[in-house]
Amino acid sequence: MNGRIHVLDEAVINRIAAGEVVERPASVVKELVENALDAGADSIAIDIEMGGTKLMRIRDNGCGMGRDDAFLAVERHATSKLITEKDLTGIATMGFRGEALASTASVSRMRLVTADGIEDEGTELLIEGGVFRKAGGIGAGKGTLIEVRNLFFNVPVRRKFLKSPQVEAGHVHDIILKIALAFPHVAFLFREDEKTRLDAPPAQTALDRILRMYPQELSGNLVTVAHEAGRARIDGYVARPPYSRSNLRSVLTFINGRPVRDRLVNAAVVKAFSNLTERGRYPFAVLFIHTPPEDVDVNVHPQKTEVRFVNPELIHNLALNGVCKAVTGAAFHPVEGSESRHVWNAAPGSNRAGGFPREVASEGAWIPTSDDPGPRTVQYDGQEETQPTLHTRGVFSSLQIVGTAPGSFIVLHDGADLVVLDHHAAHERILFEDLRRARKDASQGQDLLWPTVLELGRVEADRLAGRLPTLESCGFKMEKFGERDFVVRGAPSWLGDVDMKEWFTGLVDEMVESGAPADPQTEEDRFLKAVACRAAVKETTHLTHEEIRSLLDNLDRVGSIDVCPHGRPITVRYSMEEIRRKMGRSRGAG
Ligand code: ADP
Ligand code: MG
Repeated sequence: MNGRIHVLDEAVINRIAAGEVVERPASVVKELVENALDAGADSIAIDIEMGGTKLMRIRDNGCGMGRDDAFLAVERHATSKLITEKDLTGIATMGFRGEALASTASVSRMRLVTADGIEDEGTELLIEGGVFRKAGGIGAGKGTLIEVRNLFFNVPVRRKFLKSPQVEAGHVHDIILKIALAFPHVAFLFREDEKTRLDAPPAQTALDRILRMYPQELSGNLVTVAHEAGRARIDGYVARPPYSRSNLRSVLTFINGRPVRDRLVNAAVVKAFSNLTERGRYPFAVLFIHTPPEDVDVNVHPQKTEVRFVNPELIHNLALNGVCKAVTGAAFHPVEGSESRHVWNAAPGSNRAGGFPREVASEGAWIPTSDDPGPRTVQYDGQEETQPTLHTRGVFSSLQIVGTAPGSFIVLHDGADLVVLDHHAAHERILFEDLRRARKDASQGQDLLWPTVLELGRVEADRLAGRLPTLESCGFKMEKFGERDFVVRGAPSWLGDVDMKEWFTGLVDEMVESGAPADPQTEEDRFLKAVACRAAVKETTHLTHEEIRSLLDNLDRVGSIDVCPHGRPITVRYSMEEIRRKMGRSRGAG
């Protein structure tokens, strides 16, 4: 039987496409703002009402359109950005499918006013549910204005899926923030129900824009990311711990200027922070990944918010090492192989002073805050090499010593803040980093006078047996005998004076409590954290200035990380300003 199959008419096709491209107000705003950017605008104003469901208005000062093009623009698959199929492998514009305007017009009441500054007058089009209602000339300056009213007025099903105006407005805000970060030179004004939500004047760099858009609490903690692998490059900024956020939306990723959500990059960032944040906390990061266009396919997602890389592993490692270097001054340390082999001398904070080798961290210079023009100043323009000024000066080692306080606290100051440092947490971080980096160097094991025998339960014995190689590489000399017994013959000098039996029993209990072994990397890290925690000083009785100095130097040496491996802060700051206020001393008064 013939005649059952027919070609869908244009209006139906458009609405089907709209189902993919136009999910919610934020997706419309994204498309329209991207169009404005593609049109070369350097000033874009966005207004929304009722979360965008009632109205979205985008005005730009880009190239505009002549009359014929304006009519074409709202046709499906009409685009000025692609000509042949070949162009798909090297897309330099944000849009390329010629779908957004037609799709949006088919599910809303759209008004388009545009002028190219060449023709005598501008053009105004009114389209309702994909049907032309009015077309004509209008006086207008160069640029384009698009109003989208009553989104999904003709698709009640879709309307039902929309969330509250506040939630929809939040999504719109998120996407505008992201785009504004990627295009610092463009001015953005975003108003929600006539209230200004973002007013970003043109900025020189992404950093200037971030500093303007985010609170000082965050911007004061940013370090630069700059790393290369193969033909790909990553740069951007990441906030150092303990600054953290409650979800992964705080990791903002851009591939060749396009805001995307990328599982690979997210996973890499989470991994990079695995020993820096508490569970369930996430870093803030703005990451710009640049690859040759042919190494990434941007044409895989209807809203272009996901991409596919030709070499996913390369990108994962690029992000992982880039972020690790920025935050800890060193690339990621995998389970296998250790990059540096330095000699263990003394446990920082023990009664022997320093002697650790100096490794100069290369990247991750701090971003100066506006009122802190000191020697940390780093000029960033995305191209220049980052100056490692910070680490040569040292965040921790530049602090002035005040003294010690009960509870294993060390009191310091930096002129502006009083800094209270947790000796245990600091020691834990140093041990952990050194264990991870240098654990292959077992030369520091010292024979015990009396070998200790450990008799463990079956589960405990199994778990410990699995970590024997690690323990050996950390400087322990021990072996298993029988079903569940171990003999410890030697221990690393940094362990200090401990009751071996008690120490191991506690460690093994902790291993068992922390549940089943995870992936090898996590398992190893967890174990080393437990070792570091148990080996770190518990109580500080007496510390000389030299010992405190050595501790601070060592903190800088392992990457100036201000959290213990469990993510708890090493220092807490009290501003002198606040103290003065509490003292009832106003500025200037004595
Ligand atoms: P695409 O961006 O994929 O080409 P759109 O449907 O978003 O598809 O837009 C269709 C065409 O309309 C664009 O290729 C562009 O030529 C033109 N256009 C859309 N918005 C604007 C604008 N704000 N300024 C100038 N031209 C525009
Ligand atoms: Mg477009």
